[in-house]
Amino acid sequence: MNKELLEKCKKKLLEEKAKILERYFEKEETQQRLGEESKEPRDWEDIGQMTYTEELLDNLSQVEMATLKEIDYALEKIDKGVYGICENCGEEIPEPRLCAIPWTRYCAKCAEEVEREMGTYMPSYGVEGMYNPENIQVEREDIGEA
Ligand SMILES: [Zn+2]
Repeated sequence: MNKELLEKCKKKLLEEKAKILERYFEKEETQQRLGEESKEPRDWEDIGQMTYTEELLDNLSQVEMATLKEIDYALEKIDKGVYGICENCGEEIPEPRLCAIPWTRYCAKCAEEVEREMGTYMPSYGVEGMYNPENIQVEREDIGEA
């Protein structure tokens, strides 16, 4: 898988992780920071290596906790060089799907199968619950607005 995409996914994973964690750390300060809408580079590696306190975990919803686990798992896979491969069929997961759900373990087809077998497979939606895998739009930075 190409490095650029890998970096993009990694950044997105860390962003999602930061979003969840920051809600519980230094709440007010965080709100200010997020409110500033600044896209300045942050210390992503720090966030990636953040450990969870019991207090933090107590305050997370199950969905958030599950998402965090999937994010960490995906980051681990990036480190091991196996990221972006469907765990079920071994095929590469298409880029639009990875961009929409960077922590997904499966390609769309297998995700459906897994969901059917295991009941609700949680991590097919984002933290905000707004991602619809059927309706993925690829972001194209090279296309400007007319
Ligand atoms: Zn698959």
